[in-house]
Amino acid sequence: MTDTRIDVRSPADASIVGSVASLSATEVAAAVTGIRTEQPGWETLGIRGRREWLERYRDWLLDHDDEVTGLLQAETSKPLQEARLELAMSLDLINYYCKNAEAFLADEHPRGHSVITKSKRLTITRHPYPVVGVITPWNVPLLIALADSAPALLAGAAVVVKPSELTPLATQRVIDGWQEIGAPGVFVCTPGAGATGAAVVEEADFIQFTGSTRTGIRIGRRAAERLIPSSLELGGKDAMIVLADADLERASNAAVWGGMFNSGQACVSVERVYVEASVHDEFVRRVTQKAWTVRVGTNDGASKADIGPLISSTQLAIVTTQVQDAVSKGATVVTGGERAQPQGGAFFQPTVLTGVDHTMQVMQEETFGPTLPIMKVANATEAIRLANDSPYGLSASVWTRNTERGREVARRLEAGAVNVNDVLSNLFLFPAPHAGWKKSGTGERLGGAAGIRKYCREQAIIESRITPHDEPLWFPYTPGKHRLIWRLLRFMIARDANRKLRKFGR
Ligand code: NDP
Repeated sequence: MTDTRIDVRSPADASIVGSVASLSATEVAAAVTGIRTEQPGWETLGIRGRREWLERYRDWLLDHDDEVTGLLQAETSKPLQEARLELAMSLDLINYYCKNAEAFLADEHPRGHSVITKSKRLTITRHPYPVVGVITPWNVPLLIALADSAPALLAGAAVVVKPSELTPLATQRVIDGWQEIGAPGVFVCTPGAGATGAAVVEEADFIQFTGSTRTGIRIGRRAAERLIPSSLELGGKDAMIVLADADLERASNAAVWGGMFNSGQACVSVERVYVEASVHDEFVRRVTQKAWTVRVGTNDGASKADIGPLISSTQLAIVTTQVQDAVSKGATVVTGGERAQPQGGAFFQPTVLTGVDHTMQVMQEETFGPTLPIMKVANATEAIRLANDSPYGLSASVWTRNTERGREVARRLEAGAVNVNDVLSNLFLFPAPHAGWKKSGTGERLGGAAGIRKYCREQAIIESRITPHDEPLWFPYTPGKHRLIWRLLRFMIARDANRKLRKFGR
């Protein structure tokens, strides 16, 4: 084992809160060989056997909730409420797939589509990719590690998780928990930095990645070279559209929570707001008032902060640059706008910007910070055009008392999920697909049958119901047999009597 270690620091005060080994490419290869060897036995257990292990694992996680969320808080400094929410959502998702995996993975028998193929019996079976590589980011590290791994494990795959070097502690601990319950050795954590992630891409048979578009493109490119599938959940620039008839009180509360939850470090956070002119000023007034009340600091459940620090000084610099760019191009900082003091960590003030436009980074680039840029628009058509004027298409929201109109606007938005009069709720609804459009990703990230079937290769097994010694399509090709077959095929394919019968006259 390597003697290279990574110190993990609290984003709140830079103190060291733990350390993990940083695995080399050789060590990743060895770890993957280990789980690859165990995987056939795991697959053989069948869905019910695997489900039993996942249910025991859920119970272990429940029994270790304080320890796990404590580690998560130490490495992210997020409020206790949000650390617990990560765990709760992970457990709920484990239950969802435990309940539905058997049905989602069951063999299927679609009927033959034509008279000729009706004589065949088709079975579609699903076989897991032997090793799934899960590469996770630092913003929601526990939820992403568990939510991506649980369906893969249930599908019968072995899983290797590479957490972000900034937040490996909770992930490492919960994967230790898998070993503690005595489960088969098909779940392993390989901590390290980017190079360790790259080594996972070299070893796995399927890659599930969450992170920046830049790194996602590198991973997708390498996966394509290796001819292995990848599912990439990348950045977002989620638009919120507030129409004139919206419930402004609910919409403004949602904007502040949806934009500043986890200090804005969420791929599906509200990143830009378009408000119809007649309600713009009132909406800004309410949002500003609420943003003022958002408390910055640390929260261990007893203290009262609503948002913690950004994950690192690098993120603080990115957010600061984006806000400065907006101001230099004419935006107004209504509240916030800079590093929060007096805390020494990477804290940023809850920030509301107006007078923004699409020349500004805050309206174009992903912002992982507690910022809400608000833009006045003439009408819904302009709001839709601007919302779609983005390289990203993860999710969005529409606010109106007329829900039918909300649905209409939703259908015109280029985003994988749209909430009407709500924010982030697509994340909590596990049957919903979670798949980004455009530069927000490829593949089915999570949700429903697709969220587990993606970890499997489909196999078609075709049986002949009747088995004569010979088949009309087989050799030899004779003119008489060919004429007969062609007439039958025309009869079957044509949709009008004239074409069906034309060749039968000759
Ligand atoms: P990255 O995309 O670089 O990191 C995500 C994960 O990928 C981490 O585990 C990282 O490891 C790993 N990684 C880095 N390089 C490679 C590689 N070559 N091969 C395989 N794995 C690799 O995100 P950043 O930390 O750089 O964040 C930058 C921006 O990305 C943020 O400002 C935000 O806009 C966006 N982002 C989006 C997220 C989302 O949920 N969609 C999540 C996180 C970030 P390590 O951290 O150890 O370097």
